[in-house]
Amino acid sequence: MAANTIAYQQILQELIASNTTLIAVSKTKPVEDILQLYHLGQRDFGENYVQELVDKAAQLPAGIHWHFIGHLQKNKAKYIAPFVYLIHGVDSLSLLTEINKQAKKNNRVIDCLLQVYITNEITKFGLNKSELINILNTILSTSENFQYIRIRGLMGMAGFTDNAAQIEAEFTYLRQLFDNCKVQFPQFAQFNFLSMGMSGDYKMAIACGSNMVRIGSLLFGSRS
Ligand SMILES: *Cc1c(COP(=O)(O)O)cnc(C)c1O
Repeated sequence: MAANTIAYQQILQELIASNTTLIAVSKTKPVEDILQLYHLGQRDFGENYVQELVDKAAQLPAGIHWHFIGHLQKNKAKYIAPFVYLIHGVDSLSLLTEINKQAKKNNRVIDCLLQVYITNEITKFGLNKSELINILNTILSTSENFQYIRIRGLMGMAGFTDNAAQIEAEFTYLRQLFDNCKVQFPQFAQFNFLSMGMSGDYKMAIACGSNMVRIGSLLFGSRS
């Protein structure tokens, strides 16, 4: 097993023009594979599981930006709060409250993305538009409770389909929601990350306005 450094360089080239951040999704992959890309200059890595992330972070250079891209359970926020760089999948006010509490304990501000549900497939995770607007309004109206988190933008996942028009519609929807939030909520001054696109659909995501793609299998091979 090894990272695909050729694919890595190719993808980096593709992302330059749009100034898109590449998050190398290393879940289930060994630290050796992560180090391979680290030595080529990669600093943003994404993980889905808290224990795995904590174990890997302890073994790897401190300069890595660790992105938590899975679904974070409230009782596990404390384990990643000391070092996590960006939490992508936040989809409730209670989770945000817990992240804020753990960030405060660690005397730091934690950047978060709100996850939006953009497919019509059945999934437990993600906010719909009105839930998103409600959460943003609540954070603003009770901002004293959220001094240790910073909302940096939105995250979404397209459905598992080969239908390009469908994926395009889902990404476009999220992009428009992102743009609308920026206009409607200028108080979130650093609301500027739109995390969408994975190995199978990142080109479409970038065409639709993503500025942060989360790519795993193209870089590290398929997962068993
Ligand atoms: C695993 C995962 C990815 C990467 O998926 P690939 O298809 O391997 O690129 C991206 N985002 C999330 C949320 C994931 O769980």
